[in-house]
Amino acid sequence: MDVVWVGSPNKDKGREALRPMAVVIHIMDGTLQGTDTWFLDPASRVSAHYGVGTAGAVHQYVAEGDTAWHAGRRYQPTWKLIKDTPNPNFYTIGVEHEGQVDTPWSDAMLGTSTHLVMEICNRWSIAIDRDHVIGHREIYARKTCPGTWIDLDDFVARVRRLALDPASYNLVDRSGSVQARLDLNLRAGAPTTLAPIARTVPGGSTLEYAGSTSNGLTVNGNAHWYRSSDGEFFWAGATTGPVPAT
Ligand SMILES: [Zn+2]
Repeated sequence: MDVVWVGSPNKDKGREALRPMAVVIHIMDGTLQGTDTWFLDPASRVSAHYGVGTAGAVHQYVAEGDTAWHAGRRYQPTWKLIKDTPNPNFYTIGVEHEGQVDTPWSDAMLGTSTHLVMEICNRWSIAIDRDHVIGHREIYARKTCPGTWIDLDDFVARVRRLALDPASYNLVDRSGSVQARLDLNLRAGAPTTLAPIARTVPGGSTLEYAGSTSNGLTVNGNAHWYRSSDGEFFWAGATTGPVPAT
């Protein structure tokens, strides 16, 4: 995914010992260009991690490990995982979308956004469900953000389908073999625990692989997974080759 770094001064370095555990979906109520200007202005005191445009461009304003200022206020929150303190900015990643609250999202914006959210969830081991991918209004009920057009249940279903599609991952063809260090689940079709278990092999088993990916679901800090010749995936961290040779 091509991401254009724009940067914003409106952020806190780090996350006060927290980590991202949810993605907050927003609507800009404006343009991507206008949002760039707004987030670059220190006087606005607002930002998000990403902005997605109607043509599918992705702009990044704040690194995922830092705290953006997109959902700090709360009003009658319905999000069941909200904490009393600190404010939600410290444990969420904010994704803005070009357009008004009631304008249809283009296929390009929806496709890019769902792919971006899938990658964010895999990077931070965030569950792809409605408790962890939420609308801004679920934190701040005075707003309709992300608007009346997008159906968040459908959005999350699309993100899950992408996570289960092997074409979503950067697969490298390079064969070899490793040993399982533990009893190891082989997943059918995609490098994620969302994929069904095809079979389980006991620790010590030798596993042949046909390739690998470096951006599967992150497990204990390791996003590397091997792929067998028949499309089964197994997590590299549980093998004698936790980082595939390239
Ligand atoms: Zn919002």
